[in-house]
Amino acid sequence: MNVEGLGSLTAGTINPAATGGHSSARDKLIGVESAGDLAGFTLVETAYALAKYMGDEASVSVVLIATRKQAGDLAAKGRWKVRPSQLLILADIATHEALSPCRCKKCAGTGSKQNKVCLSCGGSGLGHESTVAMARAVGVDNSVFHRCYKEKLANMLGYLYDIESSIRLKLALRNNNWTTAQS
Ligand SMILES: [Zn+2]
Repeated sequence: MNVEGLGSLTAGTINPAATGGHSSARDKLIGVESAGDLAGFTLVETAYALAKYMGDEASVSVVLIATRKQAGDLAAKGRWKVRPSQLLILADIATHEALSPCRCKKCAGTGSKQNKVCLSCGGSGLGHESTVAMARAVGVDNSVFHRCYKEKLANMLGYLYDIESSIRLKLALRNNNWTTAQS
């Protein structure tokens, strides 16, 4: 499998560089980059924050491109035996899961049930896409998905959650500085 070519494989649909700089996505990218510089965020951190907390669609594409690239790097390093098309699907699932987590079905996202912490989600209110649906998307059966793909998906989610942690840390530090400056 040629994971090096993964970036160009996906370029047709969402890579803003492929459009020669005239798409709004590319302008958006430049806007995101300068906004990120101001806040001390990296490009992908800024895009992640805009996508997750502001619902910015163009930023979702930026995060998706970064996750697909990361998936390619992980696959190359780990010598994953995964088809490029499956790798892209895993990256898409991970991005979706990180940016717009489903609500827990048991407690409807409230985190509690009959005044007790919801056992299903541990009180977070967050649910997960069913692994049956994920397996179907990747094109394998459920047991194969659990055996061969779940950990790879977790690796990609780890990459995204690291971005989120970094955003939270930087925001916390900034708020802390602000509080200190005011007192
Ligand atoms: Zn719940």
